[in-house]
Amino acid sequence: MKISEGIYFIEGQDEFIPDAHAYVLGDPSSGDLTLVDAGLMGKGSYKINSIEGLGIELSHIKRVIMTHTHLDHIGCLPEILEAIPNAELWVHEEEGDPLEQGDERIVYGMEMFRSMCQSQYGIPDGRFRFQVARKLKGGEALELGGTRWEVIHIPGHSPGSIALYWREQRILIPGDTVYADYAIGRFDLHGASGPQLRKSLMKLAELEVDVLLPGHNRILTQVPPGYIQEVAKQWAPYLG
Ligand SMILES: [Zn+2]
Ligand SMILES: [Zn+2]
Repeated sequence: MKISEGIYFIEGQDEFIPDAHAYVLGDPSSGDLTLVDAGLMGKGSYKINSIEGLGIELSHIKRVIMTHTHLDHIGCLPEILEAIPNAELWVHEEEGDPLEQGDERIVYGMEMFRSMCQSQYGIPDGRFRFQVARKLKGGEALELGGTRWEVIHIPGHSPGSIALYWREQRILIPGDTVYADYAIGRFDLHGASGPQLRKSLMKLAELEVDVLLPGHNRILTQVPPGYIQEVAKQWAPYLG
């Protein structure tokens, strides 16, 4: 589904574990497209078919940028990189370093979930070890196939969570930090922090946002003024 010029939405296909939404950024004619997030294990062919269904040539996907590296976002990255072998992986350094070292604690979030998923899906240790072509720090201005995004580091849900913000278009891709319906991401997994999440929500609340494209659930194309501020306010007492 096309959100606007240069932004395409591929809805997550939830199983008993949710499957993250994916977004494709960039003007298709630029041949310089970016996939934001992959999704759950086994969803690679669905995501790839959806990209091709948009009329996009896979070789035009030059990189995958992860909002963060939880399993429901990175699970099918190996499948996607198999189909698009030349795509680079861009991740915030706080999660890029663990990915390169094969430290999967952030990916799984907690030990119980790791053993459950590994036996359920037959995943070996080290499945989510990747070479990271570019480690983001936050504050970068990215020109992606004719679209322009600021990288904002918003730790809390995970240590290397980022948002992508297109200021002129007032479009925000916040990963799992803030959703529609006054919901926010969980903050009890490995590397998460309630107080950091509170600060990150306050940072996002300063932005003018008309379109909110989160990692799960509904997307919002007409965000009410002050929406994120209201979310931050409602959740502040629970975040410490
Ligand atoms: Zn997450
Ligand atoms: Zn998620």
